[in-house]
Amino acid sequence: MSYVDEILERTRVQNPAQPEFLQAVQEVLESLRVVIERDEDAYRRDALLERLTTPERCFIFRVPWVDDHGQVRVNNGYRVQFNSAIGPYKGGLRFHPSVNLSVIKFLGFEQVFKNSLTGLPIGGGKGGADFDPKGKSDREIMAFCQSYMTELSKYIGADTDVPAGDIGVGGREIGYLFGQYKRLKDVFEGVLTGKGLTYGGSKARTEATGYGLLYLTQEMLKCNGYDLAGKTIAVSGAGNVATYAIEKAWQLGAKPVTCSDSTGWIYDPEGIHVDTLKEVKEVRRARLTEYAARRPSAVYHEGKGVWSVKCDVALPCATQNELHLEDAKLLVANGCFAVAEGANMPTTLEATAYLQEHGVLFCPGKASNAGGVATSALEMSQNSERLSWSFEEVDAKLQDIMVNIFHNLDQAAKEYGMPGNYVAGANIAGFKKVATAMQAQGIV
Ligand code: GLU
Repeated sequence: MSYVDEILERTRVQNPAQPEFLQAVQEVLESLRVVIERDEDAYRRDALLERLTTPERCFIFRVPWVDDHGQVRVNNGYRVQFNSAIGPYKGGLRFHPSVNLSVIKFLGFEQVFKNSLTGLPIGGGKGGADFDPKGKSDREIMAFCQSYMTELSKYIGADTDVPAGDIGVGGREIGYLFGQYKRLKDVFEGVLTGKGLTYGGSKARTEATGYGLLYLTQEMLKCNGYDLAGKTIAVSGAGNVATYAIEKAWQLGAKPVTCSDSTGWIYDPEGIHVDTLKEVKEVRRARLTEYAARRPSAVYHEGKGVWSVKCDVALPCATQNELHLEDAKLLVANGCFAVAEGANMPTTLEATAYLQEHGVLFCPGKASNAGGVATSALEMSQNSERLSWSFEEVDAKLQDIMVNIFHNLDQAAKEYGMPGNYVAGANIAGFKKVATAMQAQGIV
């Protein structure tokens, strides 16, 4: 049996109830076959793939908190420190009822390659809780964040592990988490990124994931002979990534016509109105029905269906496994020629294969959504030098990073005989740096 197949089997046997983690490992290892086969004996002797697919450390802890009725509630908290070969663990925290060890391990595993692709010195980690922020008061959110940080603070630090936001964790939550860390440790350090601008946050961090997605998409289109300007874009999601992807799409001359949340989706033929979206989602924390009520041109559809709209480019920015084979078929039938992932692993393995087989340009999230974590690394740099850079400076660095990422994965795909296969390119380019660093550091 080949070394890759051996490790896939081992991962399946050891993690039987972790479908998301298995999916992520399968996607990466399938692309690495060509690299591993060139030097199979050395990789096997060093057990490099066993080490790569096994987190350095996983913490699972109890998070008790008191709700507004005086009832004590208990959630499961997680932090997975996956790989520190190229820098301190770095990756977001997700607060969502779907969170479990499989989800956090898949996200942490993806983060290792994503962070490597940024070219910056950050290892991979991820954390979160099965806490549902929906419908909670500000005080309940604060109580939860403080209790979560009381435990998490034992494992993190500015040079050890630096969490940030993800689904359900934005500026408000990072503020409460940071306040509690500082109170417990009595140290003001860059232990979290995505901080507010008054206490060490970086300009352009809020916008970075969505903006970065569009910078990379623009470069991918350009290198394949297309112009992003004038294109119709379907976007899913209505959180931080989707909102700033929509904003940047407009700025680059494209027209984003959809967005979605957990209950339904919007088709706005005149294009999604960014200020209305921000007011509804960021300020009022309301449902998209409110967006539809404020925009006469918008049509609200209950449930799923965002990928049934005719578009040139699709940007899934909601969550994992939101774009299925049936959706991929609809996109191709409707003339969509490019997909770039804003979320982490939003496209299923079958849907990805279908899109690639039908000539659709496809960029995986670990490359196209890396702008968020890259800007987090820039926030860490600013914290270390106790300075803050202008919006323009950070944004210019972000653009450079995204363009470089695209060229790195394009190059890696060509080098290994798979031109245009950006999934393989991203996995190979991300892997090589991490593997070289792991080999250099001995058996740890
Ligand atoms: N949660 C984001 C991601 O998936 C950002 C992580 C960070 O900034 O550390 O990459």
